[in-house]
Amino acid sequence: MGEADDSENRRSRNSFGAWAMTGPTGPVSAAQPVEHGGALPEAADLVVIGGGVAGVTAALYAARAGQSVVLIEKGRIAGEQSSRNWGWIRQQGRDPDELPLVMEANRRWQELAAETNEDLGLERTGTVYLIRREADRGRYESWLPHAREHGLDTRMLSARETAEMFPDAAARWQGALYTPSDMRAEPWVAVPALARLAVRAGVRVREDCAARALDVEAGRITGVVTEHGRIRASRVVLAGGAWSSLFLRAHGVPIPQLSVRSTAAATEALPEFCRGGAADDRLAFRRRQDGGYTLAPSSYHEIFVGPDAFRALPSFRRQLMADPLGTAYRPWAPRGWPDAWSTPRRWQPDEASPFERCRVLDPPPNRAKVRQMARRFGAAFPGLGEIRIKRAWAGLIDTMPDLVPILDRCEALPGLVVLTGLSGHGFGIGPGVGRVAADLAMDRDPGHDLTRFRLSRFSDGSELRQGPHL
Ligand SMILES: Cc1cc2nc3c(=O)[nH]c(=O)nc-3n(C[C@H](O)[C@H](O)[C@H](O)COP(=O)(O)OP(=O)(O)OC[C@H]3O[C@@H](n4cnc5c(N)ncnc54)[C@H](O)[C@@H]3O)c2cc1C
Repeated sequence: MGEADDSENRRSRNSFGAWAMTGPTGPVSAAQPVEHGGALPEAADLVVIGGGVAGVTAALYAARAGQSVVLIEKGRIAGEQSSRNWGWIRQQGRDPDELPLVMEANRRWQELAAETNEDLGLERTGTVYLIRREADRGRYESWLPHAREHGLDTRMLSARETAEMFPDAAARWQGALYTPSDMRAEPWVAVPALARLAVRAGVRVREDCAARALDVEAGRITGVVTEHGRIRASRVVLAGGAWSSLFLRAHGVPIPQLSVRSTAAATEALPEFCRGGAADDRLAFRRRQDGGYTLAPSSYHEIFVGPDAFRALPSFRRQLMADPLGTAYRPWAPRGWPDAWSTPRRWQPDEASPFERCRVLDPPPNRAKVRQMARRFGAAFPGLGEIRIKRAWAGLIDTMPDLVPILDRCEALPGLVVLTGLSGHGFGIGPGVGRVAADLAMDRDPGHDLTRFRLSRFSDGSELRQGPHL
C-alpha cells in the first residue's frame, strides 16, 4: 500500500471514529462516514461484491483460508438488508434443506461474536410463533418432524404454557411453536463488527466502491471493473442482495428474483417481558439490547413492480398465493431502485452504473403499518402503557420463487460464485452460507448438499419445491 493510500485510510477512519463514539442507533445509512477507504489493489485471489452479512462472511472465511481477498461495497457495510432486519437468528421454520446450513450458522455466530471482541447483542433467547388463529396450528406442527430429524429443541407450547410465557398479554394465544436455541443479535452492530474482524483477517474492504461489471476473457472471469478501477482476479463471489439480478442480467444470466419492501420500527425502552423474538400472524416483536422492541407486521410485504418483477411474477405465483393478503402491489418501483422502470439494464464499464447511483437503498417505511404495529403491540400488552416509536425504517428483501437461496458456481461465467436470494432469513444463515460460498470459490468441498440451491433450477425444467411459509 502506498503513502497516499495510508493517509486516505487514516482520514476515513478518523471521521468514522468520531461517529462511532455515539454508537450506532439504527440501520446504517449513506450519512454514516466511510470506515473502510483507501486504494484498491491491482490484483487479488478473490473479489467479493457486496458488504452485507453474506459477502462479509464469505470474504472473512476465504481470507482465513489464506486467500488475498478484496471486498467491495457500493455504499456502506451493512447499509442495506444486513442492518435493517429484525435481528432474529432463527432455525425454526426453515426449509429442511437449509437446516444444516442454518445450524452451522448458529454455531458460527457464537464463534465469530467471541472473536470480534465487540458486543453484538448475541444471545440465545429463542423464537416463538404464537397461534392466534387455530388454522396456523397444523402448519406449525407439520414442521416438528424436521426439527426432530435434525436434533433441534423445537416443541409446541400449550395455551397454558404460552400464557405463562407472556403473563401480561391481553391476547390469549392458543399455543405456540418454540425453539429455545434460536438467537438474536443487533444487526446494525453485528455486521459492521464482522467486517472489522474480516479486515483483521486480512480482507481489503472498500466502501463507496461499486462493481460495474466483470472482466471476462475467453469465457472466464479475469477481473472486476469497479468505479475506482480494475482488480485482476479469477474468482468472484457475488453477494449483491437486491441488486444481484440487475448485475447478473447485464452479463446474460437472468434469475427470477423479486425484492419486496418490508417495514420495521423500534420502540423506546420498555419493561422487559420477553428476551427473544415472537410473532403471530399479524405482529412480530423482538427485544433489543437497548431495552426497546423491534416491531414488524409479521408477513406483510410490498412489491414495487418494475420490469424484472413483471417478468418474474409468474414464477412467484405459488409463493404469493400461499398468503394472498400478505403482499401489496405498487405499480412503480421508485427511481434509483434496482428494478425501477428507468434503471438502465446495460451500461459501459467506463460509465457510471446504477449501483453507484444508489449508494444505500434506504426505502421509506410504510407509515400506516408503523402506526398499526404500535397499536397492535399496545393492545397485546396493555401493561406496557403508551408505545412510543423512536425510529422506523424499511429494507428491500430479495427472494427467489421457492424461498431458498442461490448458492452455486455460475456455469456460464466460470470463476463466479452466486450467493443471493436469502429471503427473510439471511441474517441468521449468513455465516453458514458465507463460509460455503468461500469454499465454492476456492474449489473446496462445501460440506453440504447444495443441489436445492443450484442456479440452474430455474432453467433446467425441474419443478421448483416451495420452502415453508413459516
Ligand atoms: C425488514 C427486514 C427484516 C428482516 N428480518 C430478518 C431476520 O430477523 N432474520 C434474518 O435472518 N433475516 C432477516 N431479514 C433478511 C436479511 O436481512 C437478509 O436476508 C440478509 O441481510 C441478506 O444479506 P446479503 O448480504 O445477501 O444482502 P445485503 O445485506 O442486502 O447486502 C448486499 C450488499 O451488496 C451491495 N451491492 C450490491 N450490488 C453491488 C455492486 N454492484 N457493487 C458493490 N456493492 C454492491 C449492496 O449495497 C448491499 O450492501 C430481514 C430483512 C429485512 C429488510
